[in-house]
Amino acid sequence: MIPFVYRCTECGKEYKRDEVKYLCPDCENNYVPGNPLRGVLSIEFDYEELSRAFDKRIPCWDLFLPIESKYLPNFPVGNTPLHKAGILGKHFGLQNLWIKNDGLNPSGSLKDRASYLVVAEASRLNETEIVAASTGNAASSLSSVCAAAGKKAIIYVPASAPKAKMLQNILCGAKVIPVKGTYDDAFKLSLEHTKEKGGLNRNTAYHPFTIEGKKTVGLEIFTQNGFKVPDAILVPVGDGVIISGVYKAFYDLMKAGLSDKLPKIICAQAENSSAIHAYIETGEYENLKSSNTVADSISVCAPSNAHMARKAVLESNGFSITVNDAEIMEGQKILAEKSGVFAEPSASVTVAALQKIKELELFSPDEQIILLVTGHGLKDIETPLKNITLPEAIEVK
Ligand SMILES: *Cc1c(COP(=O)(O)O)cnc(C)c1O
Ligand SMILES: [Zn+2]
Repeated sequence: MIPFVYRCTECGKEYKRDEVKYLCPDCENNYVPGNPLRGVLSIEFDYEELSRAFDKRIPCWDLFLPIESKYLPNFPVGNTPLHKAGILGKHFGLQNLWIKNDGLNPSGSLKDRASYLVVAEASRLNETEIVAASTGNAASSLSSVCAAAGKKAIIYVPASAPKAKMLQNILCGAKVIPVKGTYDDAFKLSLEHTKEKGGLNRNTAYHPFTIEGKKTVGLEIFTQNGFKVPDAILVPVGDGVIISGVYKAFYDLMKAGLSDKLPKIICAQAENSSAIHAYIETGEYENLKSSNTVADSISVCAPSNAHMARKAVLESNGFSITVNDAEIMEGQKILAEKSGVFAEPSASVTVAALQKIKELELFSPDEQIILLVTGHGLKDIETPLKNITLPEAIEVK
């Protein structure tokens, strides 16, 4: 393992490995529940050492993880396909459009990458219980990785979460606590749980390893792309942790001397859940009073990682786009029809965004653009079924 420190993304203070667990203790004092987190920690490696240890001819990406390999669960996640989407690209006037299909992770979403690393940390700390608040996918992913690692997942989830995601939790043996409220309510309850009853908290951005775990999708894109940084990556955004992870991947690669630029990082949000989009556009952060969208995985009033997400977009010269529910459902259909990839509504937001990007001519036709597909379509069949009538069966004579 490469030595690392925690750096507070807000005040810049540095902490040693076991000096802190979640947020910067100084900045956490300013955190008001129901708002974005304060003092989110970022991992800073000894980049000279990393660059010495990393050999491009036999790349060992575990060197980019802040934990000893022996703690990693025996449950492979990631290594999902990156492939060109020619017909879809043509539809949007793009010659070089690609899909990174993270719906093909073991539990069906990119969240497995974060759960994997937090469960590894739980093993190092001899914690047997891991607690999380979730809109659905963080929960089903934590339940899966915990089952594989012989740990107990304790899940706070809105009672309205899609049934398939609930079912995954229950079959994997998690303790599921449905909340008659929003994801933001579940977030508060899960923080109280670990404060009062212990266990390790996996809440997104609250545990710094969630960002590091999600980072691995960016490292893979770089490797699968022949050690080249693509021009742009489109990311569906809720709490703003995946997008921060993508940024961190390319930041680490630059710091380790493996690349010399960032891809443009594009934030795509649902119109009715667009706190981060508004923050990027205006520079002023404000919580939403309510959030209501078909894209359940990105429905949040107070995104936990709003500050880092905004930074990822600004520093990479990216931009942000919102789309409405009808456009999202149309995006899901176009993605399936023109690429064969069936993604859940939240993971289709980027395809809907491409339609607007085309109209506004925000990309040139030959730029290499990567759509990050974050969750599998079978995660939520109830929502698309509302707009679809299944054909009637014919008689067999
Ligand atoms: C969690 C999730 C997102 C958004 O990730 P954030 O880190 O919350 O921004 C997008 N798509 C899917 C399918 C997800 O599960
Ligand atoms: Zn701080």
